[in-house]
Amino acid sequence: MRYISTRGEAAPRDFEGVLLAGLAEDGGLFLPETWPGLSPAEWRGLRGLPYAELSARLIHLFAGETLRFETLRAMTGEAYAGFGHPAVAPLVQLDHRTFALELFHGPTLAFKDMAMQLLGRLFDHALARRGERITIVGATSGDTGSAAIEACRDRHAIDLVMLHPEGRTSEVQRRQMTTVLSPNIANLAIQGSFDDCQDLVKAMFNDSPFRREMRLAAVNSINWARVAAQIPYYAYAALALGAPDRPVAFSVPTGNFGNVLAAWAVRRMGLPVERLIIGANRNNILARFLAANDMSIRGVEPSFSPSMDIQVSSNFERLLFELLGRDGAATAAVMGRFRTEGHMPVPDAAWREATQLFHGFSLDDPGTLAEIRHLWTTAGYLADPHTAVGTAAARAKAPEDAAIPVVVAATAHPAKFPDAVERATGLRPPLPPRLADLYEREERYAVLPDALPGVEAFVRAHARRNMT
Ligand SMILES: *Cc1c(COP(=O)(O)O)cnc(C)c1O
Repeated sequence: MRYISTRGEAAPRDFEGVLLAGLAEDGGLFLPETWPGLSPAEWRGLRGLPYAELSARLIHLFAGETLRFETLRAMTGEAYAGFGHPAVAPLVQLDHRTFALELFHGPTLAFKDMAMQLLGRLFDHALARRGERITIVGATSGDTGSAAIEACRDRHAIDLVMLHPEGRTSEVQRRQMTTVLSPNIANLAIQGSFDDCQDLVKAMFNDSPFRREMRLAAVNSINWARVAAQIPYYAYAALALGAPDRPVAFSVPTGNFGNVLAAWAVRRMGLPVERLIIGANRNNILARFLAANDMSIRGVEPSFSPSMDIQVSSNFERLLFELLGRDGAATAAVMGRFRTEGHMPVPDAAWREATQLFHGFSLDDPGTLAEIRHLWTTAGYLADPHTAVGTAAARAKAPEDAAIPVVVAATAHPAKFPDAVERATGLRPPLPPRLADLYEREERYAVLPDALPGVEAFVRAHARRNMT
C-alpha cells in the first residue's frame, strides 16, 4: 500500500513512512493511493469479532507490507486491553433508532485514546526497528495532552514533554497529565496562556539546530495513522447493527474532521453508510459550508464543547481531494486561496456532491444543556456536551427512512465535563472506579516562565536521546 499527498507533489511513501512523516513535504496530507475494499461476504465474515481483532484486520489493509499481521494484532491487543469496558466501544440504545457508540472507555476518558493508544505503539515499533529515538513536544489546553501522554508513557524510543498553561486547565485535566510518573514523560506548566504554549512549541520546531539535536516530532490529528485507527469502530458498530445487509447513518461531533473522515472511509471501503451527520457547536464552519458553500474563517468562540472550538478543520483537505477527483494541483490551489483569503473556493459541483452525503447541524450552549437534560430525562443517559451535540444533530438530520439506525459517536465520558452535566441535570457524574483515586495521586510537573531558552533547556534535560 502506497500513500500519496493531497497536493500531488510529494513522493509516495509506505505506511511506516507516513506514520513518521505526519505532514507531506508539499504541505498536503497523505491518503492511500487506492482505497482497500471488502465485498459484502468479506464484511459478513468480520461480524462478531472482538474489537482488537477487528481493528487489526482492518488496519492491516492499510499497513500492508510494513507490518506483519501478528505484530499488529499483538499491538491492538495491548492497546485496547486497558479499556474500561469489555466491548471496548459499546453501543447503547437511546431511542427506537438512535445509538451511542461509546468511544470514551480509554485511559483519558475521551475518544482520542482509541487512536492514540495504538499510535504510541506503532511509533515505538517503527523507531525501534530503525534504531531511532524521538522527542515529542506538544502544547495542550487539556484533552489532547493527556491522550498523548497516556499513549507514550513507558515507550522506549519516545520522550515526551507536554506544555500546559499554568492554572488554566481543569484540575481533572491537569491531574490526568501530571500524575503519570513514567521516566519518559515530563510536564511543564507555563506561566502564560495556551497560545503562549503553542508559540513556544512552534519556536522550538523553528529552531533548526535544536529540532535536529532533539529529533523533535509531533503527534497531531493530521497523521494518517490516527485516521486509520479510527476506522474500525465505525465498522464495528455498523456490523453489529446488520451491515452490510442494512444501511446505517453516523452522527459525529466534529472539530478537525478527523473522526468523521474515518466514518466516510468505511463507506469508501464498501459498507452501506447512508448519511454522515456533522455536529458543530457555535463554531460552525462545517455546517455553514454544507448549508451554503460558505467555508470562511471566523474567530473561535469558547463553548461547552471545547474540543470542537476550532476555526479550520485540517482533515477536511482529505475529503476535498476526493471531491476534486483526486486532483492534487486543484486541491493545492483551493487550499492556497483558503490560506490567503480566509474563504475556501470549493467548486459548486464538488460542494453539491458533498451535500448528497453530509448533513451539518450546529447547536449553541443553551441547546447543548437542553439536549443533555433531554437525554437524561428520556433515556436515563448521561452525556457529555460533545456527545450531546452529536445526538441533537442525529435527531434533527436523521434519514427519512426510520429503518436506518443512526449511530452517534459518543466522544467523551460525562465525568470529563462534570460542570456542564451538573448544570443540565443536577447530577455530578463520578469518575469511573479506575480513576477514582486521581485526586490522591502524586503529581509531578515543573513551572517555568514564558521564555524559550528556559523551556529548551528543560526539554534538553528530559530528552534521553543519547541513551541506548
Ligand atoms: C477531539 C474531540 C472531538 C473532535 O474530533 P475531531 O476528530 O477533531 O473532529 C470531539 N469530541 C471530543 C471529546 C474530542 O476530544
